[in-house]
Amino acid sequence: MSQALTESQLKELKHLLMKRKDELNVQMEDNRANLAPAENTAGSVSQDEAGRLKNQTREVDEALTALDLAELRRIDRALEQMDEGSYGQCEECGCNIPFERLKVEPMTQHCVACKTKLEKQGVRV
Ligand SMILES: [Zn+2]
Repeated sequence: MSQALTESQLKELKHLLMKRKDELNVQMEDNRANLAPAENTAGSVSQDEAGRLKNQTREVDEALTALDLAELRRIDRALEQMDEGSYGQCEECGCNIPFERLKVEPMTQHCVACKTKLEKQGVRV
C-alpha cells in the first residue's frame, strides 16, 4: 500500500495538470483553425476533389478534437478531486496511486494493477 500524497507532491501534480491543460487548449485552438472552411484548396483540383480532401482533413481534425476534449475532461476531473481531497485514489480498488505513476499520468483514475485488469477486459481507461 502506497503512502498518501504529500502537500508538495500534490502541488507538483497540479502544476503538471495545469500545464497539460494549457497545451491542450492551444492544440484545440489549432484544430479549430483547421476546421474553418478553407476555400483556397479549389482551383488546382476539381471541385469534387477539393471537397473530398477537405472532408478528410476535417474528419481527422474532429477526431483529434474529440480526443483532446476527453483528455481535458479527465484533467478537470482530477483537478476537482484535488479540491475535494480525493485525488490520487484508484477508482477501482481505492488504493493510493503511487506518486511515481501520477507524475507520468497525472490525470489517471486507476492504479497500474486495476488499469491492466480493466484493459484486459477491453475497457478503455
Ligand atoms: Zn486499483
